Amino acid sequence: MIDPKIIAKMPKVELHCHLDGSLSVQCIKQLAKNDQIWLPLTDAEILENAQAPETTKTLLEYLKRFDFVLPLLQSAQNLTYATFDVAQQASKDQVKYIEIRFAPMQHLKGNLTLEEAVEAVLEGCQSAQQQFDLKINLLICGLKQEKIAQLEKLPALFDHLPNEHLVGFDLAGDEFNYPMRIFEPLLKQITSRHVQLTLHAGECPHCSQNMRDSITFGATRLGHGVCARDFSSKELQHLIDQKIVLEMAPTSNFQTKAIETLEAYPFKKLYDAGVRVTLNTDNRTVSNTTLQKEYKKISTWYPDFKIKDFEQVNHYAIEGAFISPLEKENLHAQFKAAYKKISE
Ligand SMILES: [Zn+2]
Repeated sequence: MIDPKIIAKMPKVELHCHLDGSLSVQCIKQLAKNDQIWLPLTDAEILENAQAPETTKTLLEYLKRFDFVLPLLQSAQNLTYATFDVAQQASKDQVKYIEIRFAPMQHLKGNLTLEEAVEAVLEGCQSAQQQFDLKINLLICGLKQEKIAQLEKLPALFDHLPNEHLVGFDLAGDEFNYPMRIFEPLLKQITSRHVQLTLHAGECPHCSQNMRDSITFGATRLGHGVCARDFSSKELQHLIDQKIVLEMAPTSNFQTKAIETLEAYPFKKLYDAGVRVTLNTDNRTVSNTTLQKEYKKISTWYPDFKIKDFEQVNHYAIEGAFISPLEKENLHAQFKAAYKKISE
């Protein structure tokens, strides 16, 4: 295994991180205080409520853990604060570029409008970027189990809120009961606006068709994509040729039961085949993880996965990031220099 001190130092890119699943205990306590909610829980009890246990049986059971923090994320002040908190944690992981995603529909119970909810998170991105040495962009996320009429309000946000930090769209949530094909008209409204698309797909067993459909509908990145293990070699070649980026999150992938055994986890096989896999936390709190922990896991599972391989995974992430060609060029150069120094 690579020395954890070296892993800590590695600059990282994170493409897949949910705001509401990634709040620190300190942040959760502060959000309750801001809302004048008495939270009679110890830190351990807060974590017990917010984290999914190792024994989680399904993706749906995993998603239930979000119910604990959502009531605290219904004001502009708290959304801004929460965004800052996630950026701070990412900064400690040496993340230099992060895309945070959030589902604005989940934050309208305190009279915020959709636009106001997004603006509050954008403000958090802006202030965190001034404070920490990282760049932050935001993805709007729709939940598949929401009513289509509600989801159809989301594309217009990109017209109403032209903002340099608002860079893409995602669909998350219950993949098993809501297959990707039913969202084709909605996704057309996104891609017709030239908004970039990453979609949660291949996160539950036997869901590989959602991956194929997501690519057909215009996604250049797939959230998790664990079901690529069911792809034929021709289909894998298609992923490689199309430069599709898979946003994998080892801890989460086991918790959601996308995968059950390490032998079946396709990360290394996909990497060796030339598929653009990347490493992410998905949800720092719900999965009780950090990006450093995810790197350590990969390094322990695959001892021949070296520093240069972690660097390569980050170059894949930069390539797939929803940023300009110039920003990519700068990040590639920055990472190349930093990894060279680390390897010396
Ligand atoms: Zn996710």
